[in-house]
Amino acid sequence: MTESAADYLIEGGLVVSGAGVTRRDVLVRNGLISEVGPDLSGRPSKRVVDASGKYVLPGIIDAHNHPVNTDKIDTFSISAAFGGITTVIPFIQNLRRHGIAGTTFDTIQGFIEEAERISYLDFGVHAILVGDDDVDDQVPRLIKEGVISFKMFMTYPRRGMMMPDDKMLRAMTLASHQGGVAMVHAENGYCIDFMVDKLTAEGKTSREHYAPSQPRILEVEAASRAATYARVTNCPLYIVHLSAREVLDVLTRFKGGGAPLYGETCPQYLDLTNQAMLDHGPLAKIGPPLREPADNEAMWRGIAERLIDTVGSDFCGFNKSQKHSGGQSVGPIVDRPDLDEGSASIFDASFGGNWAEQMLPVVYEEGVNKGRITLPRLVQVMCENPAKIFGLYPKKGVLQPGSDADLVLFDPTLRHTLGAESQHCLSDFTMFEGKEVLGKPVFSMQRGETVIEDGELKRAQGKAKFLPGNSDLAAFATGGHAVD
Ligand SMILES: [Zn+2]
Repeated sequence: MTESAADYLIEGGLVVSGAGVTRRDVLVRNGLISEVGPDLSGRPSKRVVDASGKYVLPGIIDAHNHPVNTDKIDTFSISAAFGGITTVIPFIQNLRRHGIAGTTFDTIQGFIEEAERISYLDFGVHAILVGDDDVDDQVPRLIKEGVISFKMFMTYPRRGMMMPDDKMLRAMTLASHQGGVAMVHAENGYCIDFMVDKLTAEGKTSREHYAPSQPRILEVEAASRAATYARVTNCPLYIVHLSAREVLDVLTRFKGGGAPLYGETCPQYLDLTNQAMLDHGPLAKIGPPLREPADNEAMWRGIAERLIDTVGSDFCGFNKSQKHSGGQSVGPIVDRPDLDEGSASIFDASFGGNWAEQMLPVVYEEGVNKGRITLPRLVQVMCENPAKIFGLYPKKGVLQPGSDADLVLFDPTLRHTLGAESQHCLSDFTMFEGKEVLGKPVFSMQRGETVIEDGELKRAQGKAKFLPGNSDLAAFATGGHAVD
């Protein structure tokens, strides 16, 4: 019996899945995993990769990012790749408030065409639906195109981004009937504007007033309201970037009845606090705001206790000068290097930070090395669950025969220091500057092609594929609890 040589043999590593860690070899053929077994060393292969002493993880899926500012999908995907990410799912919305005509559907089609040319990693797309979108028209068209997830802002009314409650209910109804999933940014925007106006009138516009202007109760209220609407419409709901400790009560209350409810948090809400805002001002401005150490611990507990299902980065690639000057989070940015962080109201600074490349090392260091979560749980929340929720499983998110050969080798013995100098995006700062971590992604591949190796990007542009979400395969379509 003869067998043609495989393309790759990944030999001697510890393969990690949500079920556990096992010593396994992995054979890759024609871009797919062809076999996973305890000893495949005798198999002919064109290339052997020595994975001894390393973990072999499914490629990380970052299901939350905004590559629409200084870092577009090209440089964002490079940075993500160096962080062990192989699949990204960006948020895209219509550009009408920037004077660019067209529907969300049009903008997304344009994005997909561009990303297939310039992205270095495979990508899905989430649609953002804003108040002026025609949801009856857009939701069915987008689902047919493979864009099955729809984010709505419950905040930012003055930026023209908030989805009114009645239209949110309509969008959830449409999504629930057609295999879609609703996503919300859960904060009460009217209350935030009220607080911001009040503090501004009192002359309280410096950094220490930022967190009090967006208190945690506004996240808890909005999460509870969105979960209520999802229950009424029987729509699967994914709440992005959870940060407040009390929101675990909302997840406890609403999970397990009716359509699935999923929670996401981010490395910044797991490891940073309002101290970063006090130290760095506009550079640390994100919504929801960075909170307190007890909130960090609650997010870890939420992950460990399966209340929180995923970790995403919420990457926005801004330069320092743009953060200070209040560039919008989508569309053209005014670069104002003349403004320094002391000169403007914190309420005028822009939202967002570049957290993708550091995400896996931070979650591994703070989660696994510090004993807050297991490594299999990390693989569940960063690989398996995002793939299942957004209809990409088992093509992505798992190392098993037939799946795409998307994997990352992680060396748990490499100590390194995170910082702007060593990151690969255009954005020129990181809120994890100087953080020492143990463990680093050192090799990755996508569909059998090497992406990073020896500290270098090996993949060319033009290879990335759009990944339509398959609503039939998605865990939520079954109404079951396929997510761990
Ligand atoms: Zn976001």
